[in-house]
Amino acid sequence: MIIGHAPAGYIISTYLFPHLSPAASVSRRTFLFAGVAGAVAPDIDMLYFHLVDHRQHLHHSYFTHFPSFWATLLVLAFAWLVAARAKAGPLVLLVFFLNAFVHMVLDTIVGGIEWMAPLNSTSFSFATVSPRFQPWWLNFFLHWSFLLEIALVLWAIVRWRQTEWPRPLPRHHAAIEDNQSARRQRGEPGHE
Ligand SMILES: [Zn+2]
Repeated sequence: MIIGHAPAGYIISTYLFPHLSPAASVSRRTFLFAGVAGAVAPDIDMLYFHLVDHRQHLHHSYFTHFPSFWATLLVLAFAWLVAARAKAGPLVLLVFFLNAFVHMVLDTIVGGIEWMAPLNSTSFSFATVSPRFQPWWLNFFLHWSFLLEIALVLWAIVRWRQTEWPRPLPRHHAAIEDNQSARRQRGEPGHE
C-alpha cells in the first residue's frame, strides 16, 4: 500500500476517538495525530532501505514490518492503559500502535508481510503485483488494489467533512438569531 495508510489511520482514529476519549483528557487533535503517525510509522524503514541498506533487503523484511513487533507494543500499551491512573499517555500510544498494526494488515493485501516473523520468514499476501512496467511504482498504480487506496482517500475526505466542518445551527436556534438581529435593526431591546 502506498497512499492508503495515512487516510486509513485518520478514518480509524476519528471513529475511535468518541469511544476512547472519555477515558482520558486527550485532545482530538493529539489523538488523531498519534493515529495517523502510527499508520505511517512502519514505513520509516524505507529510509533505512534506501540510505543504509542500499536496497539489499526488501523493507518488509525489517522488524518494523513484523506484526509481532507491533502486536507486542499494542498489548503493552493496553496493559498500561488498564493499570494507569493518568490514562492520556497510554491512550496515545495505544492508538499509535493499533494503527501501526493495521498497517501490517493493509500491507498484506499486495505488499507481502511475514506474519510469523521472526520465527519464520514466509511472506503472505492476498494478491501479487506483477512487474510489468518500469519504473516499479507504476505497477502499483495500475493494479486493482490502487482503487482500494483511492477509496480510503475519499472515505477520509468524507470523514473530515463530517467531523471537522462547522455544522449549521439547528433550525430553532437560527430562528432566534434572526429574530434578535431584526429587533436590533429596529432599535428594540433584545434579551441578550
Ligand atoms: Zn509498509
